[in-house]
Amino acid sequence: MKQANFRYAPVLPFRANPITMGRHIHLIKQLFNNNMTRRLLIAGNWKMNLTLSASLELADGLKQAASSVADVDIAVCPPSIYVQPVAASLKGSNIGVGAQNIYFEKEGAFTGEISAAMLKDVGCQYVILGHSERRNILGESSELVNLKTHAALVAGLTPIVCVGELLKEREAGTTEQVVRRQFDGSFSGISAEDMKKCVIAYEPVWAIGTGKVATPDQAEEVHAAIRKMIEKNYNKEVADVVRIQYGGSVNDKNAKEILAKPNVDGALVGGASLKVELFMGIVRPV
Ligand code: PEP
Repeated sequence: MKQANFRYAPVLPFRANPITMGRHIHLIKQLFNNNMTRRLLIAGNWKMNLTLSASLELADGLKQAASSVADVDIAVCPPSIYVQPVAASLKGSNIGVGAQNIYFEKEGAFTGEISAAMLKDVGCQYVILGHSERRNILGESSELVNLKTHAALVAGLTPIVCVGELLKEREAGTTEQVVRRQFDGSFSGISAEDMKKCVIAYEPVWAIGTGKVATPDQAEEVHAAIRKMIEKNYNKEVADVVRIQYGGSVNDKNAKEILAKPNVDGALVGGASLKVELFMGIVRPV
């Protein structure tokens, strides 16, 4: 663990109060990381769920519940068709909106696809790329994820690029190699300045939607390895800035311990993002 920055110690607001402490994970992490720049990003991946009215109801519930949250970045990623109405309903709030995919071309004869610029045009700020469901069900390669990452950055969207190993890869002891391959492939040709704008989501595939969450130590081990990969390919300044989220069965019960790890800078949340109380229990874990 890095040295504490004692410059901030005298003004700590959470001393000896475990409940308040839970609400100040970011401050504790900043203190021990000597890092004042990485805010937690909690993003909900709604996947292919909800109707228009249910999406708007969920967005409205979150808007109200999160209105006083000023120290955590929050985003929701509805199905593409609901991005625009959800973005409109969240306009002016502290909740950003993301998409779950884009196509990498700017425009043209690509039937059924949506460009990064189109999403940006309707109020989208983030896009999840290379989610394991797209890699494994739809056959997306890291090369394709790389083209999409470039396209997202050109359009001014923040890419949330997912990496993570299958159960058999973890059991074979190849987690770091797999993540390294996905990392190198997905970020090929991305400049240091653009890399700083990216978010990485470490999502062990065996933990997604299974209720089988990685232990905080398992998550931290891979997050620290990813940060080293960033430092090796870029430099320490970039590595210190890039946010690395954990994803895989995060809920209101396990979030606090995972988010407290020094290299975990937020969560990408599937199932628990579909209910206001559960999602807010991750934004504000007690
Ligand atoms: C996800 O889809 O990115 C995810 C982490 O899902 P869940 O939280 O349901 O495991």
